[in-house]
Amino acid sequence: MVHLATTLIHSDDKNNRVTDVAPPINVSSTFRYDNNNLIPANEVDDFLASIEQSPVYSRESHPNSSRVQSILSDLLGGHAVIYNSGCSAFHAVMCHYNPKRFFMDGGYFGVHAIADLITRNYGLEQHSLDEIEEFAQPGDLVHLESPLNPFGTASDIKALADRVHSKGAILSIDSTLAPPPLQNVWNFGADIVLHSATKYFGGHSDLLAGVLAVKTKEQANELIEDRIHLGTNIGNLESYLLLRSLRTYEMRIMKQSDNATKIVKYLHNHKESLKGSLKEIFHTSLQNESFINKQLSGGHGAVFSIILNSINQCKKLPLHLKYFQHATSLGGIESLIEWRAMSDDKIDQCLIRVSVGCENVEDLIKDLENALLTVAKQS
Ligand SMILES: *Cc1c(COP(=O)(O)O)cnc(C)c1O
Repeated sequence: MVHLATTLIHSDDKNNRVTDVAPPINVSSTFRYDNNNLIPANEVDDFLASIEQSPVYSRESHPNSSRVQSILSDLLGGHAVIYNSGCSAFHAVMCHYNPKRFFMDGGYFGVHAIADLITRNYGLEQHSLDEIEEFAQPGDLVHLESPLNPFGTASDIKALADRVHSKGAILSIDSTLAPPPLQNVWNFGADIVLHSATKYFGGHSDLLAGVLAVKTKEQANELIEDRIHLGTNIGNLESYLLLRSLRTYEMRIMKQSDNATKIVKYLHNHKESLKGSLKEIFHTSLQNESFINKQLSGGHGAVFSIILNSINQCKKLPLHLKYFQHATSLGGIESLIEWRAMSDDKIDQCLIRVSVGCENVEDLIKDLENALLTVAKQS
């Protein structure tokens, strides 16, 4: 087996079209036909293979979207289909598998918003996960985010997969918060894997993309055909940025995972001295359930959350941080915090989400500790 670090740099060698070592940025929306070898569409027997070889129009495919799919297929251990956002990837699941019933608890608000659009337009029935036994039928979709945004806590995927499959339903897992090699969701019964590539795969807070991985080439091809019609392929420039980002992905995610786990450990061990502001910490490294180490066999995710004692402390915390920037999103090389009340109207008003980047962990700990001690002086 080829190791991840090598995969990230060489999986797309097979897509080379020119002698450039760094693949060119292709901004063209359309590509010249080969006038010496014109094969009409009704004589092409594998259309998708042919547009990977010779792109025609960039809504269908373009050189760097094919490259990122090559890398992500190997990285995710499945057949990857790339989209222009994580939300587009989720919409693609709903559009293609067309479930009559949809089961989900918590998680990304944009995913719920898409389900609500489908309920509005076509009457999709929505249920919580504890209603699977009562209502799920073959072809229905169960969607789980683990680790769960914004908390950074995990639930038992294998236990859920058994319940879902005993009903003949389909399980999609949003693994954005613990991408491989931290967590390999295929081992726990996922049928479809979703990642917002905007987060760790992009990793530099400068692009939007999403990816689905499925188990067979046939399924991936059906999704690509849908994607061509829906117009949700990744943009040309973004595909180049993502390609460049993926080269260093393993180094980044391992550093971020390590940093986050050390910061959480420090905060947990210093809860007493920080109790003037810090009330609670959520992260998989603090969960005791036996599935945690099996599920996150490669390490913990780099997002965790904390609850402070007051709304006022949450408002003041960003003012006293040097390195953690106050912004939404996660997964980038720069550490971010977000007072979640800014973007989520239903969340605990005292919750702060932390996305840990690639800075030096001691600098990050000092920064966070100093800010927590400073706001502790406020009520
Ligand atoms: C960001 C995110 C999404 C949506 O992805 P976009 O690329 O912003 O469309 C979905 N799920 C999770 C867990 C996310 O963090």
